[in-house]
Amino acid sequence: MNGGDMKTPLLAGSDADADADADADATESLPQRLGNPVIGIIGSGDFSRSLAIRLVASGFSVVVGSRNPKRIPKGLFPDGVELRSQREAVDSAERVIFAAIYPEHYSTLVGLRDGLAGKVLVDVSNATRLDDGELSNAEQLAELFPQSRVVKGFNVISAWALQTGAHDGSRQVLICSDCSDSKATVVQLTRRLGFSPVDLGGLVASRDIEKAPLHLFPSWEGATLVTFLLFLFFYGYNVVKHVLLPYLAHGEHNFYQLPLETVNQTLPAVALILLGLVYLPGLVAAVLQLARGTKYKRFPSWLDRWMCRRKELGLMSFLCAGVHAVYSMCLTLRRAAGYRLLNAAYRQVKAGVENSWEEQQVWRSDLYLSCGILGLGVLTLLALTSLPSVGNALNWREFTFMQSGLGYAALTLSIMHTLFFGWDFAFFPEAYRYYLPPVYLLALILPCVVLVGRVLLALPCLALRLAKIRRGWESSRHRPSHSQGQEITSGRVSPQNFGDV
Ligand code: NAP
Repeated sequence: MNGGDMKTPLLAGSDADADADADADATESLPQRLGNPVIGIIGSGDFSRSLAIRLVASGFSVVVGSRNPKRIPKGLFPDGVELRSQREAVDSAERVIFAAIYPEHYSTLVGLRDGLAGKVLVDVSNATRLDDGELSNAEQLAELFPQSRVVKGFNVISAWALQTGAHDGSRQVLICSDCSDSKATVVQLTRRLGFSPVDLGGLVASRDIEKAPLHLFPSWEGATLVTFLLFLFFYGYNVVKHVLLPYLAHGEHNFYQLPLETVNQTLPAVALILLGLVYLPGLVAAVLQLARGTKYKRFPSWLDRWMCRRKELGLMSFLCAGVHAVYSMCLTLRRAAGYRLLNAAYRQVKAGVENSWEEQQVWRSDLYLSCGILGLGVLTLLALTSLPSVGNALNWREFTFMQSGLGYAALTLSIMHTLFFGWDFAFFPEAYRYYLPPVYLLALILPCVVLVGRVLLALPCLALRLAKIRRGWESSRHRPSHSQGQEITSGRVSPQNFGDV
């Protein structure tokens, strides 16, 4: 918060002053007589109503300015909120007035210029499109009212969130203005309403702030695309191998597998590769640092971006693994499973086999199920620690242990789950029907490379050198000439330089 925050009262005049004034001027409005700071709101729509409820609950008096206050139904606004004309609301507001109308109607307020002069005018509007014009709504409002102090804020908070309050403490209000005193006032007001203000600087930042509610999970785009493409590839591969080619070559009708069995064969492959992709950039970063002999050289931007998206990739992996678990539990509920069991039993009876117990297969299924369940359990733990409320409670060592130590445990368990599932079938020619290898073999390649890479990096000769580099040591070819021969034993560590988290 800047200095203005300390020296500017939230609203002009203290409560005591207001009490004294109340005796002196019997013509004042109800809020002023009550002695609470008076906030004005122009517009009587959804946002205005929710804001008024929140303001009243936080100890403010509110005057709502409407084009036609008589039209507002009784009881729509809480007791204590005065419904007046726009002009009266502007005049009653001590310092802060919210413009809770759509930006296309801002020009209808020009007649209120004098009343709004010198007051803090808060623009709560959102952009309608990501490619909206050059000037933001707030900048246009500032052009229309040059004598007012325009502050952008509260647009990222929905009317619903305003009413219910910021129970989880994570509701941030992005604020910007060219007038630091007015911004400080709105920052204070935001805190009193129970939200967390985030000062984003000058009014030019409103261009981004207004578009913030329009973005659709921007940090998830990459991870979602990768997951979708992987799913598409493996699903297509399974369809070709288990459905299409058997039909074309032998007239086998396996199309019934498409909705469930094929999806369930696809999901674990996607989950496993995504988990490998979470830990691969850490290895690439470590190899780069070893090869360069320094950590003070920036990683390529694609690697930086990849490292920043590991959490999303991990959560996508968790999603696929979780859904795979549910699908697997449902496999035996299917009609197809019942028919297959009956047919197998019939063939067994016909062949005179009394006991079909196969010790090896019993071990195989128990081992792969157990590794799968354990792997999913560890993945769940990892997903929980990626929640800000949990992750923020961990110190750096605990966080590294969870994300790196347990992460590799999850990767190892998932690989073992797949290996036990495959058992020795990979060595049978039938597994390569139509010259296509089994899907689990394809899915194992990347995670195994990552695991072997991690084991190699744990070798003392590499691990010690890497640890030295991460503490600031540089190989002689990178040292500045004046420090030749000296070892740099400490250095600033920026988060993006951690290759292996
Ligand atoms: P709304 O329910 O449609 O209310 C808009 C108000 O604007 C009306 O009640 C009306 O009040 C006034 N108005 C309508 N036509 C007008 C005109 N021609 N000239 C002057 N005033 C006019 O809209 P809202 O949902 O409250 O949204 C208001 C602003 O808040 C928008 O800029 C929106 O982007 C922003 N916002 C809304 C939300 C939300 O959750 N609703 C969240 C964030 C930001 P009177 O009839 O009393 O004059």
